[in-house]
Amino acid sequence: MFRNFRMISNVLFGRGSFAQLGGIVDRQRSASDSWAVYVVDDVFKGKPLADRIPLQDQDMLLWVNVDDEPKTGYVDQLTLEVKRFKGELPCAVIGIGGGSTMDLAKAISLMLTNEGSSTLYQGWDLINHPAVYHLAVPTLSGTGAEVSRTTVLTGPEKKLGLNSDYTVFDQVVLDPELLRGVPKDQWFYTGMDCYIHCIESLEGTYLNEFSKAYGEKSLSLCREVFIDHHPDSEDKLMMASFFGGMSIAYSQVGASHALSYGLSYVLGTHHGIGCCITFDVLGEYYPEGVAEFKQMMEINGITLPKGITRELTDEQMDTMINVTLGLDPLWENCLGKDWKTVMTRDKVRALYDQM
Ligand code: NAD
Ligand code: ZN
Repeated sequence: MFRNFRMISNVLFGRGSFAQLGGIVDRQRSASDSWAVYVVDDVFKGKPLADRIPLQDQDMLLWVNVDDEPKTGYVDQLTLEVKRFKGELPCAVIGIGGGSTMDLAKAISLMLTNEGSSTLYQGWDLINHPAVYHLAVPTLSGTGAEVSRTTVLTGPEKKLGLNSDYTVFDQVVLDPELLRGVPKDQWFYTGMDCYIHCIESLEGTYLNEFSKAYGEKSLSLCREVFIDHHPDSEDKLMMASFFGGMSIAYSQVGASHALSYGLSYVLGTHHGIGCCITFDVLGEYYPEGVAEFKQMMEINGITLPKGITRELTDEQMDTMINVTLGLDPLWENCLGKDWKTVMTRDKVRALYDQM
């Protein structure tokens, strides 16, 4: 079966395009008391961007904290706050921030119309009702969360997204000016998430022309950003992220992501840096990609933490190995149908020991 791929309905791109946000949201207001909720990364509290949010009197400004990556409990709590704000549904949910904030906005828009806890919907196509209209404004580029059909959530039992056609944003506003001010390490780690998406997609067994077309373009944009330091790097990184997300949407990620899910589950390691740490030891599987990644780290003066798995108990290590080896499609994409004969528990352990 071929997947019938859902895409974002509307895309706005360009420096300064954030100024059009208010007009776009207004088109969703069907009555004079229609209200919107702006889900905004609290890193922007007191910053100039906060004053530019086109908030109307009846709207809700919901600051969110992403020191920890999104959890199901946090999504449930935020959804309740939004439901209680006016006792009726908002006309739009607008997420302003990086991958974590965009995922929170997606999850809230889904949970406003689907009963019960978000833990019930972690998986594929479990969502029953369409979400409230939802819109993304990325302020950090690389994850591809602005285009994907998932919102990655850590729950009490598993780290798994709400994967559905309803998850896809109705609109994205891509304004490269908003990337200014991202700390350099974070810029690199999240940008490398995109680079790794491209390598895993292009080197994977699931590759097809759809994914290749987007992946190749995204990869060359990453090189212009992280090797050439092109003057239009913000614009280029924003499009690289979008295209990288499009590439994996119709293929899959691979070994680096599979291993990073283990780190994230046991150690709480954030997505971007986690992918960098795992990719760094995968030279045997992605030789050219890993060599170029190391070159990019050097050019940009980035050093990765080392020895992060050293203190783990055997039990924790076992959990980490179980989490990563549970991600069949990712390993199959990397190594083919017989991946289990290649990626044994000992092999995974040896990789984790190097991190
Ligand atoms: P993030 O959203 O977690 O943000 C990282 C840090 O950067 C935070 O401290 C944040 O406050 C700060 N930040 C964001 N924009 C800023 C700006 N303009 N200036 C200054 N600081 C800024 O980071 P991320 O790497 O974009 O997202 C990672 C999250 O995305 C993870 O939760 C991961 O699971 C998720 N993810 C989702 C998908 C998907 O398809 N839905 C794909 C990959 C990753
Ligand atoms: Zn990723």
